[in-house]
Amino acid sequence: MLRPLGTAALKLEDTNVTQPTVGFIGLGNMGAPMAANLAAAGYNVIGFDTAGTTAEGASVAGSAADAVRDADIVITMLPDGNILRAVAADILPHTKSDALFIDCSTVDVESARAVAAEAAAASVLFVDAPVSGGIGGATAGTLTFMTGGTVAAFERARPLFDVMGQKAVHCGEAGAGQAAKICNNMILGATMIATCEAFALADKLGLDRQKMFDVVSTSSGYSWSMNAYCPAPGVGPQSPSDNDYTPGFAAELMLKDLGLSQQAAEAVDADTPMGAAALELYRRFVEQEGGRGKDFSAMLPRFAGRGRDA
Ligand code: NAD
Repeated sequence: MLRPLGTAALKLEDTNVTQPTVGFIGLGNMGAPMAANLAAAGYNVIGFDTAGTTAEGASVAGSAADAVRDADIVITMLPDGNILRAVAADILPHTKSDALFIDCSTVDVESARAVAAEAAAASVLFVDAPVSGGIGGATAGTLTFMTGGTVAAFERARPLFDVMGQKAVHCGEAGAGQAAKICNNMILGATMIATCEAFALADKLGLDRQKMFDVVSTSSGYSWSMNAYCPAPGVGPQSPSDNDYTPGFAAELMLKDLGLSQQAAEAVDADTPMGAAALELYRRFVEQEGGRGKDFSAMLPRFAGRGRDA
């Protein structure tokens, strides 16, 4: 089993200091393995999830308030901004005033900033720290954290990032982590679509997919979507396309993130036509074209199976 052995974990085991207590709320696909890694590294983890899910090595609380009452650090890994706001309103009155609150969910920038303000009012340090790396990264402890908040909050959170991930970038004030995440994923969604439609065009031009990969992956059309996560089965490194487009990163999660980037673009009057087009294509794919439950790279068979007027 891969278990991260960051410097924080070693320090905890090598000294007799009291193990910090982590209240972990949201033990889903991502939260459960993240909480398990913290427990394996020596943290005293108390988990809570409304669905009754648990995490290896963590004890279970009967409510979110009970999970945070004795916590030095509170971590949330929740589906969206409304749920985050509701959970924050529920737990902050019960959170110790010197505690650190790390939200790892992907949410809208406004919710991240609103919860940061509420935490500050309760004298609780807050960082928004959405992740990339998916369920595999959460399990292996190799996530990347994009964080927003004060430098002091970031530095206090760093030992936990070291356990749950391999990289943490402090991006700026509260909300900056979410801003980085949705900008990254807007690029990812648009480049995946461009890569898939180019493969479908290549098919119709009689160009072999392997030859297309050999050229593009070493030419100016290269991208992470092409080089590391090639949507064409049997071409490039192993990816969800080689497993019948089983996620990986599900199309509906990409749809969620593209919705957040367009919501943010509207709020600050940014012109993002490629992001808007990607959002519309993933919306149709997920809601009308059978894309729900498939990897987001399954856009390739979608494009390959249609003509210009489809
Ligand atoms: P998930 O749906 O598997 O987990 C969310 C968990 O939150 C569920 O177990 C749910 O029961 C719990 N929950 C909902 N409301 C709650 C409440 N009020 N109190 C306590 N628990 C509550 O989702 P996930 O895949 O683990 O994703 C979590 C977050 O991470 C999302 O914001 C997602 O966008 C983001 N994310 C996911 C991935 C991925 O590959 N799955 C990658 C990067 C980021």
